[in-house]
Amino acid sequence: MGYDERFDLRATVGEDDSLHDECGVFGVWAPGRDVARITYFGLHALQHRGQESAGIAVGNGRSVLVRKDRGLVSQVFTDADLSALNGKAAIGHVRYGTAGGGGFDAAQPHFSLIDDVTIALAHNGTLVNTTGVRRELVQMGVPFRSETDSEVACELIGYFTKKSGHLRVGIRHAMQMIEGGYAMVLLRENALYAFRDPNGIRPLVIGALGTEGWVVASETCALDIVGATFVRDVRPGEIVRISDGGILSEQGLEPRPEAQCIFEDVYFSRPDTVIRGRSIYSMRYEMGRQLAREAPVDADLVIGVPDSGMPPAEGYAAQTGIPFGEGLIKNRYVARTFIQPTQEMREMGVRMKLNALSDNVAGRRVVMVDDSIVRGTTSKQIVRMLKEAGATEVHVRINCPEVKWPCFYGIDTDVQRQLISANKSVEEVRDYIGADSLAFLSLEGLRRCVPECGYCDACYTGRYPVRIPEAFSAGKFLDGFAPTFPYDDGEEASVPPVEDVRMDAPRD
Ligand code: SF4
Repeated sequence: MGYDERFDLRATVGEDDSLHDECGVFGVWAPGRDVARITYFGLHALQHRGQESAGIAVGNGRSVLVRKDRGLVSQVFTDADLSALNGKAAIGHVRYGTAGGGGFDAAQPHFSLIDDVTIALAHNGTLVNTTGVRRELVQMGVPFRSETDSEVACELIGYFTKKSGHLRVGIRHAMQMIEGGYAMVLLRENALYAFRDPNGIRPLVIGALGTEGWVVASETCALDIVGATFVRDVRPGEIVRISDGGILSEQGLEPRPEAQCIFEDVYFSRPDTVIRGRSIYSMRYEMGRQLAREAPVDADLVIGVPDSGMPPAEGYAAQTGIPFGEGLIKNRYVARTFIQPTQEMREMGVRMKLNALSDNVAGRRVVMVDDSIVRGTTSKQIVRMLKEAGATEVHVRINCPEVKWPCFYGIDTDVQRQLISANKSVEEVRDYIGADSLAFLSLEGLRRCVPECGYCDACYTGRYPVRIPEAFSAGKFLDGFAPTFPYDDGEEASVPPVEDVRMDAPRD
């Protein structure tokens, strides 16, 4: 294929071509328990949501201690580190950085000093309107350590808390100013807070740790690992406060039309996570069955691309009666590490992560089920690998619609020209990846397989639940693509100057 200027593949050759969630967050309130180790294991369960950095903050009644660094959870914390983090509450974070770059300073939790009180904040998501707020805070002399939107949120909360004298008032006023997708946990020396954007784009759940405490986490799989039981979701726009006084809830912002990220169900969340009473595994299995109804094909073997392509592949096989088997083996130990692969190894691309099982695929017509096609480079390499291993035909089936639109709410696909389906027809994509046939699950079919609720499906449809300011999206949409914002009045909301915001009183 010749280089197409509208479709920038060059930057991605040999690089990871999957979608990445930006982060996972965890929090625990459990006086008398080893909260640092509970958080450590909670973060282990959320490691799939981010592998660039990890951090834990502990509140011990007098102060907040933070330990964070680049690397996996197991690389960042030693046994001695955890033993030194004593307290009654903790929050934790794993990061795959997009907004604000990587490095130590972008690692979370961020912390801010409010007079003599330290707060620490961990954030999953992306804020779309913090550029002006950051500029204002800098002019007021607030020091920043990173370029991240999360640090802006932390400092904004600090600023409003100082002005009002109440942390919950500070959080509420910050929520009134920031826009985007966010699930945040915040810690001070004697209380844990959890709050979520008013559309509920990014997930956040509450669990009970017996009678001893409470846990909040991005996914229920992190409750399971620490022995907590699911209680409920943090509601869109809600602020939850947990302290010696118990658990308190206030509606920080009125909920807006619900817009839970549908990609959590398709790809990001772990299969054992439960959303609205249904496991992600069962939803993906149903997506495979629905895909088989919509796009059947005559073949000998159904395989999934590990890991998230496996449940829909099983569903596809069950629906068609074609045998399911393993065709690709994943090297589970290639993660982001400080040891950089050589250029020669980079050029091996996907082979560092996946290898074809030639015994199973040789001489067979294979259906390969995967969760998405982003740039198409990975699919192309996997199809070639299967053919080199002897597959006579490779039919690619994708358990979601074509990803045509960038995401601005916490996923790292914010430039439309890098999305192959925004640039090419299904037939052109098929030709590019070298498959014998290609089909995507329809949006209607996908909605049939997930619980009934309000979803964000903007990356398939261009219908964005939260307006993207033009300054934030400049250059990110291709000519001829006009996003729509069905939930607002067509006006870009202006952010009031931080200094002009008048503080209201605490609500209790
Ligand atoms: S645009 Fe796509 S990935 Fe982003 S929040 Fe919406 S559904 Fe999720």
